[in-house]
Amino acid sequence: MPESPYPMLPVEEAIDIVLSQVHPLSPVGLPFTQVLGLVLAEDVHAAEPMPPFRAASVDGYAVIAADPSPARRLVGEQMTGFIGDLHVTPGTAVRTTTGAPIPAGADAMVMVEFTEEQDGYVEIKTPVEAGSNIRPIGQDLEQGQLVLARGTLLGAPEIGLLAMIGKSEVQVHPAPRVGVMSTGDELVEPDHPLKPGQIRDANRFSLMSAVREVGGVPIDLGRISDKVTTLQESIENGLRQADALLTSGGVSMGQLDLVKPYLAERGTVHFGRVRAKPGKPVTFATLDSIPVFAMPGFPVSALVSFEIYVRPALLKMAGHSRLHRPRQRVTLAHHIRHAAGRTEFQRAIVTPDNHGRYTATNTGLQGSGRLLSMHGANALLILPFEQGDFPAGTQVEAIITGPLQETSSTSA
Ligand code: AMP
Ligand code: MG
Repeated sequence: MPESPYPMLPVEEAIDIVLSQVHPLSPVGLPFTQVLGLVLAEDVHAAEPMPPFRAASVDGYAVIAADPSPARRLVGEQMTGFIGDLHVTPGTAVRTTTGAPIPAGADAMVMVEFTEEQDGYVEIKTPVEAGSNIRPIGQDLEQGQLVLARGTLLGAPEIGLLAMIGKSEVQVHPAPRVGVMSTGDELVEPDHPLKPGQIRDANRFSLMSAVREVGGVPIDLGRISDKVTTLQESIENGLRQADALLTSGGVSMGQLDLVKPYLAERGTVHFGRVRAKPGKPVTFATLDSIPVFAMPGFPVSALVSFEIYVRPALLKMAGHSRLHRPRQRVTLAHHIRHAAGRTEFQRAIVTPDNHGRYTATNTGLQGSGRLLSMHGANALLILPFEQGDFPAGTQVEAIITGPLQETSSTSA
């Protein structure tokens, strides 16, 4: 039997190699409306205070708090959006609306609910404290204050803050563009009927979706045959437009497994085998500094390999500092067969109970081709390579990949 020339690396070592070879993409300036989900690459300060003027926080009357007058003469009305030429003096008040500037001289707002207005006079029926119902200048943001620090993940509140302070263009790490191709003479498009010996290409679509789920922009490089020339063309085409490339298929020890030799000839292969199940032949190379992940063809192997190596790499390229999923110690609900020798990632459903414990049930048969084993899973159980079978009740570590479902008994 021919031996692979590539040493079989422990999973953790392979992940470290990947992360040492990929780097955050150079920042670009983008309109603030296009940066949702991206990571900020500059510190953003407030050029102006917020609010920029003393603002009423209720509808009512602007008054002088210490004014003892039983009824105050209305000297005008201050609506929002401009600063009127009004002055509150003892014995007077200005009708003022929420969000409007506080007229000069006034030091408190009285809610309309605590007043009575009649014949041009307003009677205040509550004690008034200086400063009440007024938002002072800079209450929410001080002028010059750091609003968002470099490295911040931009979500809805952050986009609102950028709008609020008038930061219409920001420096961000762009979303990585990721070229995805499938290799294999047996593959046809999903809308094709199958001729004998053919199967439909699933990996291109699962991998492009996985890229999108992690915030990347997939580039469809198509389906290519097991020929060096077409492989070469597609890879060169991908290198011209993408920040990273993903291939699936053609990395085992078969005669038509042309991917590894081509990557080795064209660039540097950093590893070509990992002590993992599924995903033993997963291969990582850099070509002109562009990371290339060559995943095995079995649909589960491809997606599990994406989860373990590609996802953290794409997050790093996008400027994230949290690259890894949360992990949780879980208790196996049933016996799990496992052959020592490779670290196995079994797809599982992890359920928290109401005693702070987590129980894991695998998703049934764990064959590398059985993509259904990933459907509905919210975790990957890590079964270390040193150990054999795992009896029910054993605790293992799990990578939490999806929302944890409470058991029905915990919901009252
Ligand atoms: P390979 O890694 O090319 O040896 O392929 C391993 C297995 O995965 C074979 O049974 C292939 O037919 C299957 N396979 C390869 N590529 C795909 C794909 N894109 N979609 C679904 N199955 C695939
Ligand atoms: Mg193949």
